[in-house]
Amino acid sequence: MAKQTVLVVDDIPHNIHLMNAILNEEYRLLFATNGPDALKIAGDYLPDLILLDVMMPDMNGFEVCRLIKQDDLLKDIPIIFVTALNEVVNESEGLKLGAIDYIRKPYNPDIIRLRVRNHIELKRARDELFQLSNVDRLTGIPNRRAIDAAMEKEVKRALRMNRSIGLLMIDIDHFKDYNDHYGHVAGDLCLTRIAEALQGTLLRPGDSVGRYGGEEFLCILPEVQLDGILFVAEKLRKAVEDLAIMHAYSPVSDRITVSIGALWTIPGKEDDATSLIEAADKALYQSKESGRNRITLAPDRKSEERK
Ligand code: GH3
Ligand code: MG
Ligand code: MG
Repeated sequence: MAKQTVLVVDDIPHNIHLMNAILNEEYRLLFATNGPDALKIAGDYLPDLILLDVMMPDMNGFEVCRLIKQDDLLKDIPIIFVTALNEVVNESEGLKLGAIDYIRKPYNPDIIRLRVRNHIELKRARDELFQLSNVDRLTGIPNRRAIDAAMEKEVKRALRMNRSIGLLMIDIDHFKDYNDHYGHVAGDLCLTRIAEALQGTLLRPGDSVGRYGGEEFLCILPEVQLDGILFVAEKLRKAVEDLAIMHAYSPVSDRITVSIGALWTIPGKEDDATSLIEAADKALYQSKESGRNRITLAPDRKSEERK
């Protein structure tokens, strides 16, 4: 099993050396001697645990903790304060900020080792649970639950900030025939390769793709332009075609293809995740009806209403 990563933050190099001697064997260690560096390293390496000194010049440990807990990407990293402050009020302040534990200096090395080990174990179990509940086992991309959650979040954000959102509903063409002729194992492999191709083709960090159903994928593209979404849709369509997975029983092509329903909108109060997905699904149906292996853009719902 790979070593887990612990970030040690302390402005006094001697303290860092002590911690290094205690934990170095069991964990991969990262170090920072001030708050801004700690935030930067946490963001770059996503450690499994942070040991955080409280008294540091410029930005103290409480402030670092507060900023970490506000950051979506970092907020689940457990933080243990390690500090010489020993008034009760400080301990409760640290715990209120979301720290998981509080260790006082001077400390006993065994206590450090055991507490870190306990919290690392909990973190490992939590990560495993997260994987099981959010990652599709076959393809390794976000599952239905995770993509639904991402969708809720992105629609709310687009609404709040009056920003656009793009959706692509992608469905494999004549996939039942593929399974029937090449077998379920080949079908599974095909799904995995398509998921990989879709994920590999999306380049912007905010974009996401998940397995929406059996052979259906949903892409979310926040703050995309209208021509941007059509460009991405075509890139995805072509990426699947370029995999050149032979499908001799498809009436559409000699290989596996996908049909795509695209939606671009600046959501209004009347919109929610479900209604937007429905609109993308309708466009997908149009792509199927009009010959498959193509992209259909959902009509602008606002101009429809004006008619
Ligand atoms: P269309 O072009 O209209 O989308 O036709 P289709 O055959 O792809 O659509 P249909 O909905 O009739 O069939 C979907 C098939 O996808 C049925 C099932 O065999 C296959 N499928 C769904 N999930 C999985 C899976 O996890 N593994 C495999 N191997 N096949 C799956
Ligand atoms: Mg299909
Ligand atoms: Mg389908």
